[in-house]
Amino acid sequence: MGAMPGGRPVRVSLVGSTGSIGTQAVEVMTAEPGRFTAVGLATWRSVDVLAAQAQALRPEVVAIGDAGLVGALAAAVPKGTEVLAGPEGLAAVARLGDVVLNAVVGFAGLPVTLAALGAGRRLALANKESLIAGAPVVARAKATPGAEIVPVDSEHCALHQCLRAGAGPDEVARLVLTASGGPFRGRTSEELAAVEVKDALAHPTWRMGPKITVDSSTLMNKGLEVIEAHELFGVDYDRIAIIVHPQSVVHSMVEFIDGSTVAQLSQPDMRLPIGYALGYPRRLTHPFGAIDWDSLGRLDFEPPDRKVFVCLDLAEEAGRAGGLAPAWLNAGNEVGVAAFLAGRIGWAAIAEVVAETLAARDGAEANDAEDVVDADRRARERAELAVRRRERAG
Ligand code: MG
Repeated sequence: MGAMPGGRPVRVSLVGSTGSIGTQAVEVMTAEPGRFTAVGLATWRSVDVLAAQAQALRPEVVAIGDAGLVGALAAAVPKGTEVLAGPEGLAAVARLGDVVLNAVVGFAGLPVTLAALGAGRRLALANKESLIAGAPVVARAKATPGAEIVPVDSEHCALHQCLRAGAGPDEVARLVLTASGGPFRGRTSEELAAVEVKDALAHPTWRMGPKITVDSSTLMNKGLEVIEAHELFGVDYDRIAIIVHPQSVVHSMVEFIDGSTVAQLSQPDMRLPIGYALGYPRRLTHPFGAIDWDSLGRLDFEPPDRKVFVCLDLAEEAGRAGGLAPAWLNAGNEVGVAAFLAGRIGWAAIAEVVAETLAARDGAEANDAEDVVDADRRARERAELAVRRRERAG
């Protein structure tokens, strides 16, 4: 049921297998015995977790991004497992299998996205940053025969499902992205001046890694998701709306030209969108997101506060500018978030670093992946200067 034609299991490569999304992908594969088989597993430096996964799933190939750890990995995986190292090792794993999950965190996921699409794979995309920063080159790689992106991001997975009934592009009026609002929903700028890292990491509904959890607290995550939706579904920015929905049960909606809105609802559990992308076009048989309507209670909606959460407007500005502007936005954000997590700057300074970085962008064009990597590097240099000017004493 749901296996490939001929009854063989779906061959899956997991790149970023040891993080929050990667480990939940392993749970999905384990919950559907006989349906999936792991062909490749890769991560940056969590050797022990990767080795344990290799012992359990018996992939053909494993890869570790930090080449200095290759010896430790080789000693801990089953005999006969091919062991690769370095960024090229991760890209090699991304060329294997029927479906490739890109669950790398941040811009570092770009080579994985390009390798999977360039090899004509179905890409289960959890790494939104590669699509956002590298949009012009990712679009070209996606034209490879067989290549396809199925989003893992819960909002985009919802939109993918809402659009699946076969609506024509001219029948879509708006995409409506829902946002939980994060831990700081309803706060004023004054109240947010002194928040600490632990406050930003206390997400009310989703269990996620630190980078995306901070992005949720600034709403930059939602801003990035607007660009992601534009790139995935080809809908222009005037027709992508955001609504705050604190319960995180409605994952997003499509409004059609006749006024009808189709929504996707499920419990906030990333294993549903992960399984949707790994199993597409057949649904999982395990109901990870099933709703108990008797206890669900109410669903609330409110517009986002764009004065407090300025990252929304910054992201939309970058998206509308197009080209490499989203790469500058993303780099500024990654540097700002890392500096906040390291205690170097306050929470409100993240958006200041992003704004300063985005304003400093040059007019370079993205003809190939190297142009994107160059823009990312120049943007990070500018962002680091912006961080230093705001660095907290001590
Ligand atoms: Mg999301």
